[in-house]
Amino acid sequence: MGSLKNALRRVIKTDFLKNKHEDCANFDDGTCKFFHFTNLDPKGQACPHFKAKEKT
Ligand code: SF4
Repeated sequence: MGSLKNALRRVIKTDFLKNKHEDCANFDDGTCKFFHFTNLDPKGQACPHFKAKEKT
């Protein structure tokens, strides 16, 4: 039945595909605080651990 697939689609968020590192709360001045990457391209494709910045 298709309902399992639909349920998985809701659980696995794909929002990160539309985002860039620079929009991620873990991104700070070229560095990813989550993975401890440095020299990241701010315009690069976000990863599945993308976390939207909270609006202040
Ligand atoms: S999208 Fe992923 S790699 Fe990029 S800053 Fe966020 S957590 Fe790090």
